[in-house]
Amino acid sequence: MPRLTICGGGNAAHVLIALAAKAGWEVDVFAPLADEAERLRAGITAARGITARFAGESIVGCPHHVSSDPAEVIPESDVILLALPAFAHGPTLEAIAGFIKPNVSLGAVPARSGFDFQARSMLNERGLSPRIFGLQTLPWACRIAIYGQAVDILGTKAETALAISPPDESSDWTRQLTTLFGLELVAVDSFLTLTLANTGQLIHPGIMCGLSRGKESITFGHDEIPLFYQGVDPTTAELLQVMSDEVQAITVELADRLPDFKTNEVLPIYDWLLRSYPNYISDGSTLRRAFTTNQAYAGLRFPTRSTGPDTCEVDYTARYLSEDVPYGLVVIRGIAELVDVRTPTIDEVIDWAQQRLGKQYLVNGMLSGLDLDETRAPQVYGIQTLAGLVSSRYM
Ligand code: NAD
Repeated sequence: MPRLTICGGGNAAHVLIALAAKAGWEVDVFAPLADEAERLRAGITAARGITARFAGESIVGCPHHVSSDPAEVIPESDVILLALPAFAHGPTLEAIAGFIKPNVSLGAVPARSGFDFQARSMLNERGLSPRIFGLQTLPWACRIAIYGQAVDILGTKAETALAISPPDESSDWTRQLTTLFGLELVAVDSFLTLTLANTGQLIHPGIMCGLSRGKESITFGHDEIPLFYQGVDPTTAELLQVMSDEVQAITVELADRLPDFKTNEVLPIYDWLLRSYPNYISDGSTLRRAFTTNQAYAGLRFPTRSTGPDTCEVDYTARYLSEDVPYGLVVIRGIAELVDVRTPTIDEVIDWAQQRLGKQYLVNGMLSGLDLDETRAPQVYGIQTLAGLVSSRYM
């Protein structure tokens, strides 16, 4: 079995530590944030491993080594897996790059958009060209129950998309990852497809903007926080539809210019919802109804922060904007620019979101904002033309 290092000490890392060690992988953990390595070691020692609990079952896995020092775990790794929010990818790659051996496979779950641009750029400049892989989504809804000891898996997706660069001709690697994650991984053509097909980058900023624009200063009682997905109103459904149409326009233009580009791997938002939640949507007659009658979304409310003992407001720094805009929507916007496709509605949402985040990505319709370098738009990595994008596609 290859030796795997899981980077991170959050919910996703807890699940993976349990599943991977139980599946027979040699597992180490790199957890440099604050005292996480220490807390993980203490928890794992006390409970003799981390238990992942789901639907009446449980799996216990025990890693070999947990460290905050990359020199102790990274040099022996055959596979490195970033189980982290996208904003932690850069600092983690920076910390481990000097210790990675040649021929490593390096991946992220979830990859979000533009992970391949960032990982290649940071590793190539150190003479490394690893195999890179990424999952479209985190396969589980999960929450740590006791740090270093137990994590609850609240739901598992039936399948998720996987990109591997360069592509996995033999399918061996896809099979190994399927065993590791314990669910069906649907291999897509490239990271470009994975990035364009990332629906979270439309849904999260789209709903935040659609339902809050013009009402940003409203406060709620803690028991009055509006529903998020099930709160989608007709205007927001229309906004989401148009954002999805703009991504489809980018996809069609790419297919026009790149004969082997598979448009059917980039699903429109409505098709994606119906395919992802066939048993949860009771009325899929319209895009709006596919949100509002989706039981998988039942009870999920806006992210909020307290404004007083009894009141709160929408938290515009939540990951629905702080992750899905710089590591999602802005990447898509950058790709649109490379193929000369206009995206006025996506621009409108980015413009609204960047004001909420106190950032500047788009200025007068140009990707030239002061904070653009904090995003993963292809332009940040020197990709200024479609030819540049194509040459990065299978590297
Ligand atoms: P989490 O909040 O539990 O993970 C945070 C962890 O990231 C920290 O504990 C730390 O280990 C690491 N980290 C944060 N900043 C860091 C830094 N600067 N340097 C190094 N490490 C750092 O997140 P999670 O729930 O494990 O989610 C991981 C990803 O999966 C996120 O993108 C999240 O949006 C996505 N996701 C999670 C769920 C879920 O149910 N947990 C569901 C869908 C998607």
